[in-house]
Amino acid sequence: MNRDIQRILVDEARLSERVNELGRAMTADYAGREPLIVGILRGSFIFMADLVRVCDFPCTVDFMVVSSYGGGATSSGNVRILKDLSEDISGRDVILVEDILDTGRTLYNLRDVLSRRGPRSIRIAALLDKPDRREADITADYVGFTVPNEFVVGYGLDYDQRYRTLPYIGILKPEVYTSS
Ligand code: 5GP
Ligand code: MG
Repeated sequence: MNRDIQRILVDEARLSERVNELGRAMTADYAGREPLIVGILRGSFIFMADLVRVCDFPCTVDFMVVSSYGGGATSSGNVRILKDLSEDISGRDVILVEDILDTGRTLYNLRDVLSRRGPRSIRIAALLDKPDRREADITADYVGFTVPNEFVVGYGLDYDQRYRTLPYIGILKPEVYTSS
């Protein structure tokens, strides 16, 4: 375990097992379809890579980079698109893959922006969900794990761009935030 990690919340075996379950559920739901799977960078990159390999249906992939403004929890347009999709989503079944649903503002606003491009459907797959923190009216269709209101890193998630490559989800030691 990395010396900056206080506690492992979800270990590698549990991650792999749960991502497999999500892939099976999505495989049943998207039978006969060919969705566009959209990774929200950077936090989703490892989850997305594991998830698409257990989804047994034809699909294409694309990526977005967004940054969220504060703003109202229900007002749209508070999401800044730093890297837009390369694909046209009109008529497509879109699956947004996100690392963690926290206040929900980012995905609420992003879904609103994308829904105006005429997709056939938009669903959300979130590795982690922190429902206690929710401010926007949004839930994920596929959730890996519900987690308590603690700041987590690993398996794609960062603190100050570090720890993304840890193979588990962990909680940082408090001194990591307070030093440097
Ligand atoms: P929100 O749902 O509040 O709009 O934003 C979710 C984003 O906040 C996530 O995509 C992630 O970048 C960041 N975030 C929220 N909670 C955590 C956490 O516990 N750890 C990390 N690394 N990022 C978080
Ligand atoms: Mg993010």
